[in-house]
Amino acid sequence: MSVTRAGNPAEIQTQGTWLGTVISIQANYYSVQLDNELDDELAGTTSNQIEVSAEKPVLLCIRRGLLKKLGQQIMVGDRVAVEEPDWLGMRGAIASIHPRQKFLNRPPVANVDQILLVFALAEPNLEPYQLSRFLIKAELTGLAITLCLNKRDLVSDEEAAEWTKRLSSWGYQPLMASIRDDEVLPAALTTALKDKITVVAGPSGVGKSSLTNRLIPEQNLRVCAVSGKLGRGRHTTRHVELFELPEGGFLADTPGFNQPDIVTTPESLSDYFPEIRQRRAGANCQFSNCLHRDEPGCVVSSKEDDEWERYEHYLALLEEVTKQQQNLQQQRNAEATEKVKMVEDGKVLHEPRLEAKKYREKVVIKLFKNSASTCLKWKTSKS
Ligand code: GDP
Repeated sequence: MSVTRAGNPAEIQTQGTWLGTVISIQANYYSVQLDNELDDELAGTTSNQIEVSAEKPVLLCIRRGLLKKLGQQIMVGDRVAVEEPDWLGMRGAIASIHPRQKFLNRPPVANVDQILLVFALAEPNLEPYQLSRFLIKAELTGLAITLCLNKRDLVSDEEAAEWTKRLSSWGYQPLMASIRDDEVLPAALTTALKDKITVVAGPSGVGKSSLTNRLIPEQNLRVCAVSGKLGRGRHTTRHVELFELPEGGFLADTPGFNQPDIVTTPESLSDYFPEIRQRRAGANCQFSNCLHRDEPGCVVSSKEDDEWERYEHYLALLEEVTKQQQNLQQQRNAEATEKVKMVEDGKVLHEPRLEAKKYREKVVIKLFKNSASTCLKWKTSKS
């Protein structure tokens, strides 16, 4: 087995520090998979203590008090430095967190490199508009996208080739896969996942779980080992876990999103279509605030000499996000002019909000005048 300490001296925080990736979190415990294998000396003394395959040990860690004081939260996917490992108990303490690159909120994973978007070529049928929505949703994360079309065994060569051609005109190069056929789990897929943290996304029934199980055949082994330490089953929590791929890299076990709700502004929607990005890279629209709805001098609108398939999808989504924004604006206006009060029986009462200062001052003056005149009356009646 190879040497132990983190290889890159720049990354070593202090002597006796080990680098690793947080692969799961339960309560205040963090499972950290170290980057390096144990050397013979250490492995020899602890081999029967290591629950995971001996190669890269997983330590059950706590967070150092200083991190707690600084309010530094640790996420799955974080790169951390572990101090003073106890090899017998396979325990350690996280001393510091490396600066996070990108992270996803749902599922919460730090340092994610890409989304693996899985769709099926059949069963369920591949719906172009649904695929488009998922692609836009994936684009919205700002992460790289690997598109995988599963269930290749269910369609003919012609149909598969047709989809490849069609999707490349959208700006994507799909990888075809099938878990029914050993031959068809493409090397390109394992290469695309190698040394990266990947979150799988896609609608249900397309084969995400089947594909994940195929990619990480030993997934269940580690699940049992790590959960066993904490005395809990993996499925008792909703936490995301990372599973190491045989070729290197990690796959998150929780799907990224299976509802493609698109939340963005009408002005930025076009940024999430590779076809539009490509057209705008070549030339500018006449108006800088062009929404590409057939405005004069627009370089994006689909024209006879430059037709592109997803223009209809763009227009439909533009309408959706425009409505969304109008609703949001109306809501904001209502919040600004209305006070919502909870009254008896849980009823909600909407009251107009007084315009700040405009009425308040007058009310105060009136109140003051009233109380002054009452006071005067009282004084007069006394004297
Ligand atoms: P998920 O909901 O996306 O996780 O999909 P599952 O992995 O649960 O798969 C849904 C169904 O599709 C299951 O019955 C799988 O056996 C089947 N399935 C998955 N991959 C393939 C494939 O490549 N070919 C065929 N024919 N069926 C598949």
